[in-house]
Amino acid sequence: MIYNSKNIFAKILRGEIPNNTVYEDEYVLCFDDVNPQMPIHCLIIPKGAYVNLNDFSRNASDEEIVGFYRAVEKIVEIKKMSGSGYRAIFNTDDHGGQEVPHMHMHILGGEKCPSMIVK
Ligand code: AMP
Repeated sequence: MIYNSKNIFAKILRGEIPNNTVYEDEYVLCFDDVNPQMPIHCLIIPKGAYVNLNDFSRNASDEEIVGFYRAVEKIVEIKKMSGSGYRAIFNTDDHGGQEVPHMHMHILGGEKCPSMIVK
């Protein structure tokens, strides 16, 4: 799996493109989605160069994987969604509808999410 360092999230990580940061630590950056689909819509990305969830699950260190998932709970707290709930989505590759080839988790909430769309 070849990582393309010209992708937009790589540029955000390098500080070449601005973002509305929600949370940052040594493992992740979380920022608001530029085209929100729900009242709360943010993206969590690992700081390492991983194309998608498969690449991350296979090649990230245990420390990076734990760091990523520990950050999710902190971000949910920051966005005040721990009581009401939220939806987490990893779009992966072509069939998953992934547009940006740097692994990311969408966190959506702020109101009840619609039913899952299958077709
Ligand atoms: P995906 O289809 O899962 O790859 O989602 C990519 C997401 O990145 C979309 O929801 C876009 O709205 C979002 N996005 C693209 N460019 C930016 C940007 N510069 N800042 C924040 N979000 C972005």
